[in-house]
Amino acid sequence: MVKKLYPYGKKKAFNVTYDDGVLQDIRFVELLNKYGLKGTFNLNSGLMEKEFEWTHECGLVVKRLNTDVVVDLYKGHEVASHTLNHPYMENLSKEEILVELSQDKANLERIFGKEIKGFALPFHYYSDLIKECVKECGFSYGRISEETGSFRLPTDYYSWKATFFHHFDKLEGLTKEFMETDEELGLFQIVGHSYDLDVADRWEIMEDVFRGISENKDILPMTTIEIVEYLKAMDKIEITSEYIKNNSDVSLWFEIDGRVCEVKSCEKVNIF
Ligand SMILES: [Zn+2]
Repeated sequence: MVKKLYPYGKKKAFNVTYDDGVLQDIRFVELLNKYGLKGTFNLNSGLMEKEFEWTHECGLVVKRLNTDVVVDLYKGHEVASHTLNHPYMENLSKEEILVELSQDKANLERIFGKEIKGFALPFHYYSDLIKECVKECGFSYGRISEETGSFRLPTDYYSWKATFFHHFDKLEGLTKEFMETDEELGLFQIVGHSYDLDVADRWEIMEDVFRGISENKDILPMTTIEIVEYLKAMDKIEITSEYIKNNSDVSLWFEIDGRVCEVKSCEKVNIF
């Protein structure tokens, strides 16, 4: 029996994908780093440059991080586009959507000095037109504002759903369930904003989750783009009753009759 695994033979992956690039990300990234975990941070370069801030209904003033601090802060994590100005996109023309996406991508690439491959939707409205623009701008995936609600992988890279919005009352139970699941290529991906941790005073719950995840040797911390690129490589495999052939340019891992096996790029492994 053949089961697909993540890199290094890990059974499951964990990621947090957090939006808006706000001041609380500093504490949040410190926490991720403390436990060796990886995040994806979705930024609006237009608002970052304006040092935008707004007042949450609880009274907290939510401040965007500016360009001086982000490069060092997000080192080792993924930075993805969240549009230039965080607009409601429902009434935008194709040209306006393309500007929001492509200018943010270009700005972030200039600021971070590397290719920005991921996109996360602002607000909830998504359409075929936006999806087409995400592809046209050269992004490898588009995360939308829906949840899978399970540890099963999303099926569409351009309507990518995280597992779960960080409703803190359910977080502990779900983390425990993730430890116990035997879903093939199980994924636990939490979506949210770090300012919610201040609003709801939930930093301790988040730290408990991170500690638990980091102590579980079956779980690999990955960024969203690392997960997507690995899965796209996995899409290229040939599995028959006799062999596994890896047609991708990276190593892929499998469990074959209970044994962990690395199949290198272009390698063909017989299954007996
Ligand atoms: Zn947002």
